[in-house]
Amino acid sequence: MVVRIPTSTAITRSAPEGYGHRSKGSSEHPQIASIVVNTGASSEERAIALESLCAEANRCELCPQLVASRSQVVFGSGNADAQLMFVGEAPGASEDRDGVPFVGASGKLLGDLLAAIGTTRDEVYIANVLKCRPPENRDPRSDEIGNCSHFLRGQIELVAPVVVVTLGNFATKLLREDDAGITAIHGQAELRSFGQRSVWLYPVFHPAAALYRRPNLELLREDFARLPKMIADGAPQQAAAVVLKAEPVPGQETHPAPESGAPQLDLF
Ligand code: SF4
Repeated sequence: MVVRIPTSTAITRSAPEGYGHRSKGSSEHPQIASIVVNTGASSEERAIALESLCAEANRCELCPQLVASRSQVVFGSGNADAQLMFVGEAPGASEDRDGVPFVGASGKLLGDLLAAIGTTRDEVYIANVLKCRPPENRDPRSDEIGNCSHFLRGQIELVAPVVVVTLGNFATKLLREDDAGITAIHGQAELRSFGQRSVWLYPVFHPAAALYRRPNLELLREDFARLPKMIADGAPQQAAAVVLKAEPVPGQETHPAPESGAPQLDLF
């Protein structure tokens, strides 16, 4: 099924305006259940598809308890064409208020760690395992992680980074599909594939853990210090692929024909 892109959709290399901000009830974007992305898709094509995925998340009500507790969906922020992507756990109170991941004390530390390796949060892409704040900042539940993981996997495919840094246990266990704890495996890069995209998966401590335990902070700094060389060495070899397309949401199998001149992503 072809994804029709509205003619009004802006094309940008950075995350489109509105990322992380909820447009409750909006239906201006096509609804998609999953995205298969060609590794040869341009940054503009991927940014458009990422915006569609963000719109889908903004409408998502798969986790009733989180829908009741959230102020807004916190999809992600930063450069939609980043070489370096970070994945945290879930929005907290500050993130839920601002609609942006990693603000507050953990966000400040992340910013400091990025500055130490010569980059900024505008140049990287940041997301969470869950897009909605759990009540009382409780841990994400397994059913919620299962509900939400297709958004994160779609983000990885569409941003197409060289390195995905998992911050803490929740992101690490989800993306490694393994129960190994962060203390045992931090700082060890692994080749992992998400759809058509192969990346270096790189687990490190969550900044919040480093704030409360000084030894973790030193380990986190050491792990961050390896990132520039990993980026310079480049992405793993990618599998060949052909099309950028989406599976329809049940009940929405048929999309309307595009307006004249509207781009179609099955062309790429
Ligand atoms: S956490 Fe994810 S799956 Fe659950 S309601 Fe929010 S966006 Fe939907």
